[in-house]
Amino acid sequence: MPFKALNLSESVLRGVQAAGYTDPTPIQLRAIPAVLGGGDLIASAQTGTGKTAAFALPILSRLGKHAAKPRVLILEPTRELAAQVETAFRDFARFTDLRTVAVFGGVGYGHQRSELHRGVDIIAATPGRLMDFVQDGTINLRDIQILVLDEVDRMLDMGFLPVVKDIIGRCPRERQTLFFSATVPPEIAAVASFALRNPTRVEVGVNRSVNKSINHALYPVALAQKFDLLVALLARTDFDSVLVFSRTKHGADKIARKLKAANHSVAVLHANRSQNQRIEALAGFKSGKYEVMVATDIAARGIDVAGVTHVINYDVPENPEDYVHRIGRTGRAQAVGDAFTLVTPENADDIRDIQRFIGQKIPELRLEGFDYLPFGIAQPKQPRGQQGQRRGGGSGGPRPGGGRSGFRGGHGGGGQNRDSHGGKVGFNFRGRR
Ligand code: AMP
Repeated sequence: MPFKALNLSESVLRGVQAAGYTDPTPIQLRAIPAVLGGGDLIASAQTGTGKTAAFALPILSRLGKHAAKPRVLILEPTRELAAQVETAFRDFARFTDLRTVAVFGGVGYGHQRSELHRGVDIIAATPGRLMDFVQDGTINLRDIQILVLDEVDRMLDMGFLPVVKDIIGRCPRERQTLFFSATVPPEIAAVASFALRNPTRVEVGVNRSVNKSINHALYPVALAQKFDLLVALLARTDFDSVLVFSRTKHGADKIARKLKAANHSVAVLHANRSQNQRIEALAGFKSGKYEVMVATDIAARGIDVAGVTHVINYDVPENPEDYVHRIGRTGRAQAVGDAFTLVTPENADDIRDIQRFIGQKIPELRLEGFDYLPFGIAQPKQPRGQQGQRRGGGSGGPRPGGGRSGFRGGHGGGGQNRDSHGGKVGFNFRGRR
């Protein structure tokens, strides 16, 4: 079904066309009619499914003409998402006279305040800065007609529940409320019960699958060798841009410092960086000024960078969904990407959870010169032909420097590499250019 059949307004359809979209994505097909109908909605959908347009297009269609008072409020968990969503709204609204503003912390108040004073229809905001403006009287929420809570699960994870409740309480009771969340755990159901009325539920399957164009593998390693292994992987991998994930902000800073000392050009992205630092980091990473970006999960939610060739999980993600999210940063738009996860024996449970979640066994690789550390993971059911992989007990495994390297560095291009079990895994390792 083309966009035309969805009853969007003429000017919004022109905006869609200008954005180059031809067919709606599944979430758009299901959410657009629900939002146009005026009712409340809970949609389970992840970043990357087209969910921004799923709410932006029908909202813009419903608003009609500019009215110089905030009628739509979109809450986002991170500054990057608030900025990204506002940009999407502005793009789709380019053939309307509707005005939008992004409101988020980490930058001065002046510009956002003057935009707000000029009169806006749509605000995309992070909760903290929004409340600053509500409290000083710059923003009044009494005319809000449509309230969107985006990435609700992440918002609650980040401790925004009290402020989000406060914001909801300041919006008129007569309004349309839309929840978008990758997952809908019980805490969200509780917020939904006081924020939403008879919501329509739209689900486009939690994304448990890893894009086929991504080669992903585990590198079991001793904790003490982790950083050296990261450096060795970077040195021998033919990458254009690498996203390195750390579990903590402090860890991200430390990895970045050490990588800089090892002569890599590195950007860092996490919630403690100032907005200007984040903008500079992202722009530098996109332009190629930085070959490596070290990021935490939350900061990485908003990253939409084409051409990330490798993702390296320096730390195993705590949440299995984050594994799919993280490695989904590479292999975007059909490009082939590689994703490696450094695994220490303490991560055995996390890896087991991830493998269960994605329903597949992730191949294990070993880099010459590094101890291969078996970590005794309970294996999920495997298809025939992939069985007989070693586990537990160190004696059966390949030894450092042994003939069955999981990696062939330094050759000229595109060869198949063998995993530590002798199976082909098709990684495209080459010597650094
Ligand atoms: P989102 O899930 O909103 O972050 O969107 C993910 C990416 O998909 C963004 O780069 C959008 O521009 C793009 N996108 C969203 N909807 C469509 C569509 N119907 N056709 C093509 N691209 C789309």
